[in-house]
Order: sequence, then C-alpha cells, then structure tokens
Amino acid sequence: MVNEVNTEPTGKKDMPKTSYSKPTIGATGKTGSWRTFDPIVNYEECNRCRTCWLHCPEAVISIGEDDYPVWDFDYCKGCGICAEVCPKKCIEMVRTSDSIGDSLPVGGSEG
Ligand code: SF4
Ligand code: SF4
Repeated sequence: MVNEVNTEPTGKKDMPKTSYSKPTIGATGKTGSWRTFDPIVNYEECNRCRTCWLHCPEAVISIGEDDYPVWDFDYCKGCGICAEVCPKKCIEMVRTSDSIGDSLPVGGSEG
C-alpha cells in the first residue's frame, strides 16, 4: 500500500514492504567492484530515519538490529543517492582509493 512508506515505523517489523530484490552474484560477479566512491556514514549524526535504505536503487542498504543502516559493499555502486537524500547529511562520498581500510560503514566490505 502506497501510504505505508509515509508512516513512521518504530521498529523493523513496521518497515514498509518494498518491490525490489536483494542483489546477488551474477555473471559479472560482485558488482561493487565497479564503485569509485564509497558512502561513509557518520553514525554519531545518523538519526536512523531509513531514508537512505528507502532510496538506494541497488537495495544494498539494510537495517541492522540496532536500527542503524548497514551497507553491502559487495554490490553498492557508489552512485551517491543515499548521500544526496540523507536529511542529516551524514553520508559522505569518499573516493574508494582513499577510504579502503579506513572507515567503511558497519557491515561493509571491500567490493
Ligand atoms: S551509493 Fe548508491 S548504490 Fe551505494 S548505498 Fe548509496 S544509493 Fe545505494
Ligand atoms: S538517511 Fe542518513 S540519517 Fe537517515 S538512516 Fe540513512 S544515514 Fe542515517
């Protein structure tokens, strides 16, 4: 139901259903290797609003047990949409060569 995305969920069980599928390995392998920029989150600023999760076109953001967003860097393309829509502006796009081994978000891995 369209209105579900406009409600304010209080926990994972209240999150709206989505029509997209989780990415999985295909003929081109783990497509996160295409990425040239990494979304790096400042979790101290994140208010767990889930806007990034809702808008990611690759469906690589999930919500962790603590309700903070978690990235799957095996498939994130680094498009920057999550950073653009984040109301707290707490996602910074950092060139991949500068961020590897530095501060990838919780649950992230190198693509
Ligand atoms: S950079 Fe793009 S693909 Fe990666 S998590 Fe953000 S919106 Fe999704
Ligand atoms: S959009 Fe920004 S503030 Fe909201 S959950 Fe994502 S990182 Fe946190």
